Amino acid sequence: MRVSIDSDVCIGAGQCALTSPDVFTQDDDGFGTVLPGREDGTGTLVREAVRACPVQAITLQDPVGGTDPSQRG
Ligand code: SF4
Repeated sequence: MRVSIDSDVCIGAGQCALTSPDVFTQDDDGFGTVLPGREDGTGTLVREAVRACPVQAITLQDPVGGTDPSQRG
């Protein structure tokens, strides 16, 4: 599984970093980023963070590259 944030969609609400701080953080401008080494989507509350994002900017992808729509929003 891979986790990524669409920086064109992110509004910097910070919910991801609040919900799953061992996977997400915020850059100097307040936008969400995935912590280095956490791109594999492992960590606590990742799915909750995906749901918490108010603009569905976070995507979880399975290993073959398909996007599971149920993991968005
Ligand atoms: S919760 Fe969504 S909008 Fe907020 S910082 Fe994270 S990715 Fe960006």
